[in-house]
Amino acid sequence: MNAAQTNNTATATHLLSTCPFGTFFGISQKIFDDVWQKLKDPATDAVAYVSMEIGADPDVFHPVKTYMETHGFTESSDQRVSALLKRYLKGPRKIPNYSGGLGVLAGDTLKSFADLRIPVVAVSLLYREGYFSQIVDSKIGQIDHATRWTPEETPTLFQLKDPVNPDQPLTIAIPFFNGQHHPTLIPARVWMKMEINDLLDYFVPQFLIDYSLPDAPPWVTESAHQLYNAKSTVIKANQRRMLGAAILPLLEALNFSIDTIHLNEQHGVTVTLHLIFQELQSALGPSFQDTMTDAEIIAAANRVANKIVYTIHTPVKAGHDRFDRDLYATISHRAFQRILNLFAQDEEFSHEYNFTAMAMRLNRAINSVSRLHRDVTKKQFPDFAEKIKAITNGVHHLTWISDNRRRCFDPIPSLSNWRKDPGCFARLTKEDVPLLMEPLRSAWDADNRQLLQFVNSMLKSHREQMLETWIDPPNHLSHLPESDWLQPGVFTIGFARRFSTYKRADLIFDDIPRLAEILVNNNWPVHFLFAGKAHPADEPGKSVLKLILDNQEELYLRSKGLGKLVFITGYDMQVAKLMVAGVHAWLNNPKRPLEASGTSGMKAALNGVPNISIMDGWWVEGYHQGQTGWKFGFEGPVEQADLSEAPESLLYTEDADDFYRLLPKVLEMFYQKPDLYMQRAINNLRLNVPIFNTHRMAAEYVKQYRLQLDPDIHRAVDRFHGLYHSEHKVI
Ligand SMILES: *Cc1c(COP(=O)(O)O)cnc(C)c1O
Repeated sequence: MNAAQTNNTATATHLLSTCPFGTFFGISQKIFDDVWQKLKDPATDAVAYVSMEIGADPDVFHPVKTYMETHGFTESSDQRVSALLKRYLKGPRKIPNYSGGLGVLAGDTLKSFADLRIPVVAVSLLYREGYFSQIVDSKIGQIDHATRWTPEETPTLFQLKDPVNPDQPLTIAIPFFNGQHHPTLIPARVWMKMEINDLLDYFVPQFLIDYSLPDAPPWVTESAHQLYNAKSTVIKANQRRMLGAAILPLLEALNFSIDTIHLNEQHGVTVTLHLIFQELQSALGPSFQDTMTDAEIIAAANRVANKIVYTIHTPVKAGHDRFDRDLYATISHRAFQRILNLFAQDEEFSHEYNFTAMAMRLNRAINSVSRLHRDVTKKQFPDFAEKIKAITNGVHHLTWISDNRRRCFDPIPSLSNWRKDPGCFARLTKEDVPLLMEPLRSAWDADNRQLLQFVNSMLKSHREQMLETWIDPPNHLSHLPESDWLQPGVFTIGFARRFSTYKRADLIFDDIPRLAEILVNNNWPVHFLFAGKAHPADEPGKSVLKLILDNQEELYLRSKGLGKLVFITGYDMQVAKLMVAGVHAWLNNPKRPLEASGTSGMKAALNGVPNISIMDGWWVEGYHQGQTGWKFGFEGPVEQADLSEAPESLLYTEDADDFYRLLPKVLEMFYQKPDLYMQRAINNLRLNVPIFNTHRMAAEYVKQYRLQLDPDIHRAVDRFHGLYHSEHKVI
């Protein structure tokens, strides 16, 4: 901050900015105007990033709050600022608009775009009941209920105002066809969250479309309130088109000029229907619907395809939307169906539209999210094999590196620029190792203590809650004396992610007597910390969660109290951040090759924490023998048959067996050769931080978008891009 800014800070008004859509807090007027102007300027190559979910909870990364705390701004003489400050410092900081990896990736990506100053806007939906909140009862298992949150009270969210009637919220009219020829216009409101970068000198606006208005028709209301509501296929189809239909009216209302639409997964692909309509209208005039030929539709679609970039995120069937043609006939226009008939046909089921197929057909670039996933996707979609490239996922290093770890990176000379350049970890040398070793060890211990404290206080609150509610504590430890709870110095292994069956959360408990024997024979205590949510409609996923609860007592008794398995309820980004830094090893055991990438293991690696993982997703790229962690389980070539998610093909026995052979090696190193274990942590930093961060990933996307950018931005992008090419390795 320069002197002029410091003078202003007494009131913090320099972080206030105004435009016809309202007054916002967190960024200076000048920067706000620069960014907004760029997005409006047809000469800028700007991108709209479209995602069904965005996870960017301010409680894990909030540069504005950090700035205000550092400068001691707790009061302001300016009334507007004073009210905002109170909310910023004390208000709720969760925006529960995500379910898991896809949403968190979207949030991390936007943050890196902001750090790199790339002109991007993001579009998603606002869910007034979030995804769902999780209660866990040891007898019942997971119980889901609506998340209570108020966007109105969430400090980083701003509802846009109507420029003509500044007292009123901006309302945009979104066209829907419900079997009719003419659209019904559904009103929606717009919330903005700014992804402001660490230096507070750039931001990426995120727009959340809010369809939950008091007089919305019932079909809108029931589809608007909850992310991935699976009560019916119609609700699912409606959610998808609510996203796809909102993009153009939003950009038009803001007068933004966008050249590229990035579909983060195919959920928003119906935007192409609206774009093709626009193209046909301008080519053929207002009565285009009566005159258009298939050839004209295809020509229009080709022009539209040129604007679309598509990222496919999973080989798992449930991730790909298909809708019955009859159902779609009731919620779309006849002309839309002609387009769908040309581009959304399913090769296997002629009575269904396949939206993944449509996204595959209508784009100028397709990417998968790791190298292995690229190879799998090519097998799944051989017609597009030529086009499918890999851009391996990353995570936002400033979000996921813990405060304690940050403090030990700062004094290391070769890491002095790590906040701006995660690539600098590649320059860690032998001379740095002794400098880093002890500080990293104590940072890790501190993060571990913080995590154990969090878990122990959860055990306590569950015990207390039992007296007031009917909920049976999910962890048997809640019933034991506190002296039997988690203790520092004990090897702590973490597993947390959505409970989908292919992720096999219960894999390592396949043979509890054998697992217990490993601990007892060597007198090795171990904490097993598990967390995650199963989709409310995913009964098999919920059974796996219940099994984790059911295994606790048996493991505890058989291991003579050495093995403590704890389920942490309410997994979210904050719990994730505590876990990835506080554990000693991060476990991932999906059935290969169904984990397209996985990102939680990268969050651990960025804190130096070794992974113990199946060779799937990113780990195929992040595993270096004897250096970054351990691998186990099946790693043969991947064939079509391996894509099966059927229970009998999930390879439990084989992969668990391999885990039991590996585990003693890990525990022996941890307990008997702690310096070797620390070496592994440092190697993780050196080998994996430069690659598995979203700056490198965003740079690969920017190349893919083919944007014309300012020369200094280009240079930064080129530097990150030079670190690694997901298609083939550079360093
Ligand atoms: C990172 C993250 C995920 C993704 O975990 P995977 O292991 O990649 O499935 C899911 N949920 C939350 C809250 C996360 O922070």
